[in-house]
Amino acid sequence: MNAQTYMNFHGILLYRKNFKERDMLVKFLTAEAGKKMFFIRGARKRGFKMMPDILPFTYGLYSGKISRDNLSYIYSALDTDHYENISQDIYLNAYATYIMSLIDVAFPDSTPILGWFNKLFEALKLINNGIDAAIITNIIEIQLLNVFGVQPEFRGCTICGRNDLPMDYSEAYGGLICAKHYHMDPHRLHLDAKTVFYLRKFSVIDIQKINNINVNENTKRNLRNVLDKLYQDTVGINLKSKHFLDQINDLKL
Ligand SMILES: [Zn+2]
Repeated sequence: MNAQTYMNFHGILLYRKNFKERDMLVKFLTAEAGKKMFFIRGARKRGFKMMPDILPFTYGLYSGKISRDNLSYIYSALDTDHYENISQDIYLNAYATYIMSLIDVAFPDSTPILGWFNKLFEALKLINNGIDAAIITNIIEIQLLNVFGVQPEFRGCTICGRNDLPMDYSEAYGGLICAKHYHMDPHRLHLDAKTVFYLRKFSVIDIQKINNINVNENTKRNLRNVLDKLYQDTVGINLKSKHFLDQINDLKL
């Protein structure tokens, strides 16, 4: 890519923040150029004409100037839409925001990640359409572990490769261990069979092929706990959006 390229691009808005008195910085994940920060002059002025095109939870086709190293610019919005249900529901809002901030920290700016653009687009669409946001979030979290360099082994026992025995997760071995090898890790996580089943399934599931998924509340809690543990112990990021999500979920109980 040249230092600056005038082009149409597909974008999913990740977040926005106020800049100076009247302007805004808006970060998009673009299909063509990866994550990019855009300077939107006059975005906070009354009657700004692109206002609906840069609302939170907007996606679409834009035209602008993409800079390789500096801020980029949007000249016009060609065709945009909103994840309407997400923007109106505080829970869906919190899940979607967390997913987007995870993707934001997982990848460097300006690196095309078309596969993850599609994945995010699909994840938000599913959440917007009423598919369980907690589960969609778990799938994204599990599949991002590789990106964070964790690469847990979910295919079979990390020690012997078997996958026909009961399995548990071992942080020490960085993956599943089979019942024959439980004695190798006294600190294995003692996960129940259902939780292991979904961890394995979610690690390989194609999010674009999901049309419904039902997991009981107990297993959902277990999945949340194990993913929190894996993220804490191996990824070690601390996201405001995750704290917020935890807080509103605590209030719900
Ligand atoms: Zn084994």
